[in-house]
Amino acid sequence: MKDRFLEELRRICGRANVLTNPHQLETYASDGLLHYRVRPPAAVLPGTADEVRRIVRACFLESVPWVARGSGTGLSGGALPIEDGLLIVLSRLRHILEIDLPNQRIVVEPGVTNLEISAAVGPTHFYPPDPSSQVVCSIGGNVAENSGGAHCFKYGFTTNYVTGLEIVLADGEVVTLGGKELDLPGYDLLGAFVGSEGTLGIATRITLRVAPVPESWRTLVAYFDSADRAGQTVSDIVAAGIVPGAMEMMDRLAIRACEEATHAGYPLDTAVALIVELDGPAPECDERFDQVVALCRRNEATGVRVAADEAERQLIWKARKAAFASMGRVSKSYYVQDSVIPRTRLPDVLRRIDELSESYGLSVANVFHAGDGNLHPLVCYDPTVPGEAEKAERLAGEILEASVDAGGSITGEHGVGFDKKRYMPLMFGDDDLGAFQRLRCAFDPQQLVNPGKVMPTPRLCGEVPGPYREHPIERAGLAERF
Ligand SMILES: Cc1cc2nc3c(=O)[nH]c(=O)nc-3n(C[C@H](O)[C@H](O)[C@H](O)COP(=O)(O)OP(=O)(O)OC[C@H]3O[C@@H](n4cnc5c(N)ncnc54)[C@H](O)[C@@H]3O)c2cc1C
Repeated sequence: MKDRFLEELRRICGRANVLTNPHQLETYASDGLLHYRVRPPAAVLPGTADEVRRIVRACFLESVPWVARGSGTGLSGGALPIEDGLLIVLSRLRHILEIDLPNQRIVVEPGVTNLEISAAVGPTHFYPPDPSSQVVCSIGGNVAENSGGAHCFKYGFTTNYVTGLEIVLADGEVVTLGGKELDLPGYDLLGAFVGSEGTLGIATRITLRVAPVPESWRTLVAYFDSADRAGQTVSDIVAAGIVPGAMEMMDRLAIRACEEATHAGYPLDTAVALIVELDGPAPECDERFDQVVALCRRNEATGVRVAADEAERQLIWKARKAAFASMGRVSKSYYVQDSVIPRTRLPDVLRRIDELSESYGLSVANVFHAGDGNLHPLVCYDPTVPGEAEKAERLAGEILEASVDAGGSITGEHGVGFDKKRYMPLMFGDDDLGAFQRLRCAFDPQQLVNPGKVMPTPRLCGEVPGPYREHPIERAGLAERF
């Protein structure tokens, strides 16, 4: 990276906020998916949206590619740096800009954490999408990944809560999409940006819808001796017209890890634990809750634990939310997979995961948002055994294939990023990928923004896969290949 360019960055946001020391840069070499590491040549930590704009403009003028990073908890390598590019770290943009409760809106900078948003609008309101990483992950990262969480079955995902964005485009231009209002006329560019995994620009100002805190909660955890019975209970609850705030499942190995970490009182000999939480007006909650308990029993639950008070409710959730972090108790390392299947195919796909686990000789712990059919198989391996990490990755890949074969998707909420771009052709044909690429190029014609992510192969704007064909702008005499 040229000295002149680095000097310009220092002028923009101060010497202390431009990192080039390899030891400091190690911190930024990977996101939450530690398999991939690339130490960037430099990282810059702007403190204002205007500094972001000036940095992006400087990159554009020098043709320097860049990657945006929030808190670095992503699990698909979306914020993985690139060898010749700048890392733009947004964690210093931490201001709550406006709280507008009469209109149920909050306006924030991208580095604000998910949990800080609920804290800012509490105790009357909350921000529903609740990734388990919510204590630390940034709202900018949530927007880029269209993040979900346990309560998205009832409340919806990030995309259902973003009403407005200020974005810095690849050439440094600042544009505004949406605002506080819903459903503006014209193409849904806001919808295109949410979930675009940092490939269309940087969100510097985010307007979100918040919801009133429900009047009451009722929470239980039911235990089953098979995934079939637990899966049937989930289907029966939905078929009964009940819309729980959350329905979460964990299998035996996940329960063991969580229990060792939190001592929440889950029995270690149970095959599956199903957490069901209802929220809403107390009389409705109570009546529906009795129905849920009856459905658990009809499906031969071996036990039903009802949270007696808020402390017990929090304890039940503490265990579930610790699932990823506590896997270190049962395995030296693990690979987090994220796929979606139709809810009714849960038992079939879990059986297939068991078969794969046996044939590869690796344990797989399962944690999932059962209501949404969003699986998180955690493939356990020992990184000190040569070849085992690669084996875990292959197993995880076969789980994706099984999910797509069952009518599902290669990702539910963790995104495609760097890790899963090779699986995109499992779901999308060349025409689909070409359409995605043209959208991306409309935002970033020079492909400076998070290159090498999401799309399976690097392509030029307007280029189609296969043998070389003349590009339209070459045909028009505006560019030549060299
Ligand atoms: C223990 C653990 C539990 C998790 N649980 C969940 C869960 O329940 N649900 C879930 O959905 N995810 C979960 N995740 C994944 C992760 O926390 C989310 O994807 C989160 O949204 C990432 O936010 P971040 O700030 O860490 O983003 P980063 O990892 O820093 O970046 C993620 C992507 O966002 C882009 N980006 C970041 N900021 C911006 C911005 N301002 N503008 C444009 N692009 C930007 C980056 O370029 C990158 O592509 C979990 C992760 C961990 C480690």
